[in-house]
Order: sequence, then structure tokens, then C-alpha cells
Amino acid sequence: MNEKFRCGYVAVIGRPNVGKSTLVNHLIGQKLNITSRKPQTTRHAILGIRTDEDRQVIFVDTPGQHLDQPRAINRYMNKVAKAAMRDVDLVVFVVDRLKWTAEDEQILLRLEHLESPLIVAINKTDRLSDKEMLLPHVKELAARLPKAEFMPISALQGDNLTELYDLIGNYLPDADAHFGEDQITDRSTRFVVAEIVREKILRQLGEEVPYASTVEIEKFEQQGSLIEIHALILVEREGQKRIIIGEGGSRLKSVGSEARVDIEKLLDCKVLLKLWVKVKSNWSDDERALQSLGYQDAH
Ligand code: GDP
Ligand code: MG
Repeated sequence: MNEKFRCGYVAVIGRPNVGKSTLVNHLIGQKLNITSRKPQTTRHAILGIRTDEDRQVIFVDTPGQHLDQPRAINRYMNKVAKAAMRDVDLVVFVVDRLKWTAEDEQILLRLEHLESPLIVAINKTDRLSDKEMLLPHVKELAARLPKAEFMPISALQGDNLTELYDLIGNYLPDADAHFGEDQITDRSTRFVVAEIVREKILRQLGEEVPYASTVEIEKFEQQGSLIEIHALILVEREGQKRIIIGEGGSRLKSVGSEARVDIEKLLDCKVLLKLWVKVKSNWSDDERALQSLGYQDAH
């Protein structure tokens, strides 16, 4: 009872596909962020929260930083990523083994000026035959980030994650919990529901419907013992709409039923889920359209 409690914000940054969502999901022990092989599946700074006896860690899962795609959506994403790096107690920079790209370099340049403490998590070590191979790379990075701590991990297999979590704990300030114990995200349930639908579309259609879809929850209402949810899937082109709907509505039905199973688990009650698909041309190129879809709250 008299033990001091720690609480703080931890930004998880890194280029797309290095395993940020996998890491946060694993640390939180519940699936909230969507992961996929394709970059750019995380478009929001989702907060994942883990509360233990002695601490509360609030993870900010930032979107990837996109260098050569000047479209509005990417400008927004860069803004969120930048904002997430400021005002946090700790930054965890996730990189993929020895794969060092221009994007990693770009992030590193920003981190050289960072004031918050920094942990570099070298992920996917399960795919390395010999971990010694990392040493020269780590040495080089350490020369450029002299204050950083380095930790090889496998977010997928769970290797070294307890150690990483303990290390994270050391950097949190003494503070009371900011969120209730059972709260996993401070994003609205609606948002998480929309993400689940979007994940099913990406998983089922992947290649065919690139990043061209977004999901809006139009209705979210308790109806007796069940919750009725109406979700609108917005795509950029007529062709994408046809693909998502599928032959005789078959694809949409299967997206809907997979999403419903997950949403029922999340909400712990029966759900009636209805999906619609609508073409909203060039939504990702239009700042105003983005704002109307709720993408405006990056600061
Ligand atoms: P993000 O874009 O950084 O959030 O990356 P994701 O968490 O979505 O992961 C991208 C891909 O890398 C997914 O297919 C993950 O399963 C995979 N991945 C993540 N962590 C690991 C890891 O430790 N080992 C291996 N082998 N794959 C991983
Ligand atoms: Mg992600």
C-alpha cells in the first residue's frame, strides 16, 4: 500500500512493419491494435494501457512515418508520430534486426535530439541464426545514441519482453494511475470496433484493397440484450466497393461475421452488426474529408 506507484507514457515508434503493434499487443496481453504484413495498418495513436500492482504503462502506438507519400493521410500520420514523441516519459524505438532503411535513418535523426529516455528494441531476433551478428550494428547505433539502452527482443515469440517491460518500468515517474485498472484504451469503443472491421477487410482482401478503406461507425446502440452496430466502409473507387461486397454480398458477409465474433468478445455481449460500403472518392487526398472522418485530432 505504501509502495510508490509509477505511471507514465511510452511512445512506441519505428517504421512500418518492424513489429510495433505485435509488441504492444504482447505487452498488454490483449489484442487491440491491428497487425498485418502490410505497412500502414495503424493509422491512429492508439493508447494501450497496462496496469500492474506497482505501475501503469500507457503505450502510444504511433503510426509509421512515411517519407515519400505526400498525401494528406500521410501528412496527418507524420504529425501524429511527431506529437507522440514529445510529451512522453520514454520512447521505445523498434527496429528490425539489421535491416536498416532510409526510414529508420530518418527516425534516428530525430531521436538524436530527443530529450526523453530511449530504448532501442531490436526486434525479430527469432529470425536471426546468430545473435552475435547484431553486435557491430548495435555498436554503431550506440555511438550515435549514447544515452539509449539496447535490447534484442522477439515480439512474436515473447523473447526478452519481461526484461523490456521491467526496463520500461524503471523510466516511469512516480505518479498515480491515470486510468482505471480495467481500461485498456481511452479511445472510444466505437473506434476499436471500427478498427476490428478494418482489420478484417485488410486480412481478407489485403492486396486488392490497399489502404483505400476507412470505417465509420454510424450507429452504436444497446437494444435490449444486444448492441446494434452500423458500420460504413468508405472506399476510394467503385471497383473496390465491388470487391469488398463480393459475389452476391459474400465477401461483405464474411468480413461482417468475422468482425462480429471479435466485437462480441470485446464487448462481452451479443452484437448485431450491419455493414455498408460507399464510395468516397479521393478521401485520403482531401484534408477536409479527413477531418470529417475524425482524423483531425493530431497535435
Ligand atoms: P508494425 O507495422 O510495426 O505495427 O508491425 P506489426 O506488429 O504489424 O508486424 C508486422 C509483421 O511482422 C507481422 O507479420 C508480424 O507478425 C511480424 N512480426 C512482428 N514481430 C515479430 C517478431 O518478433 N518475429 C517475427 N518473425 N515476426 C514478427
Ligand atoms: Mg502497427
